[in-house]
Amino acid sequence: MTNRGRIKRCRRDADGCALGVDDAHKEVVGFTAVRHAFSIDVEDWYHDGGTDGRGGLEERVESNTLRLIDLMEAHGFRGTFFFLGEVAARFPRLARRVADAGHEVGSHGFQHRPGTQLTRREFRDDVAHSLRVIEDATGAPVSGYRAPYLSIKADVRWPIEILADLGLRYDASILAIDRAPGLELVCPRRPFRHANGLWEIPVAVLQFLHFWHLPLASGFGLRVLPWPLLRRWLRRFENEVGAGVFYLHPWELDAHGPVVHAPGRWLTRLGREHLEERLQTSLHDVQFAPIREVFEDVLA
Ligand SMILES: [Zn+2]
Repeated sequence: MTNRGRIKRCRRDADGCALGVDDAHKEVVGFTAVRHAFSIDVEDWYHDGGTDGRGGLEERVESNTLRLIDLMEAHGFRGTFFFLGEVAARFPRLARRVADAGHEVGSHGFQHRPGTQLTRREFRDDVAHSLRVIEDATGAPVSGYRAPYLSIKADVRWPIEILADLGLRYDASILAIDRAPGLELVCPRRPFRHANGLWEIPVAVLQFLHFWHLPLASGFGLRVLPWPLLRRWLRRFENEVGAGVFYLHPWELDAHGPVVHAPGRWLTRLGREHLEERLQTSLHDVQFAPIREVFEDVLA
């Protein structure tokens, strides 16, 4: 059954379809009428540390991504894969396989460098290079972009101008909080349109403890938090904002994979052994689809 078919059935029964109440928390369990976007930043384990694969490092992105695709196919949902151009160049058949399976393919830039460290020219060249490589691999135009490290800031306009100039329809890079601990929102948590017409589709930033906001609809949130807690905060997000964007990385499924030796990177290993099971558990309560389908009304 397709995601689209399932959501239609739930909308028809929106007052009671598959919904129940967990007595302990008085919260909605099971499907609601809100369908969320599922997105993946396709990069290898070493990209998170800012290095590329030229040093003979062990390549694990292909096997981890194939594992994720198999998992998604087994559970009948699709998502948006933001490919790092460097990965699409090295594994063009992987990008093609993802596109052929009906997933949306977007760009995660070519090299995994934060936008804040690039000049305007370097940023334009990096994104343009990624689009050429990914579109060559898949044979289809790319319409969405996510910056490495979600590194486009809400108050910096030039990257948004460049993305629109390159023909992209949406950006998914601006985090609604400026930095941890996320006491202040710096932009809307729902999709909004920039002055030049480019849409911003931000990752879901969940509120908890009444004042705290963090992007926990993510691989990290699924790995580290008990699902009932995450589900409660997600339901609050649904009530306040609506549909949101989850994001994770193929290396988060890799329980025995290597980790970059850098300060704080131990967090990237935490709970990896739980991710597949937690993701499967979440599918009892959440429906996922690609960004272009969840937000098709605004992106049309
Ligand atoms: Zn990344």
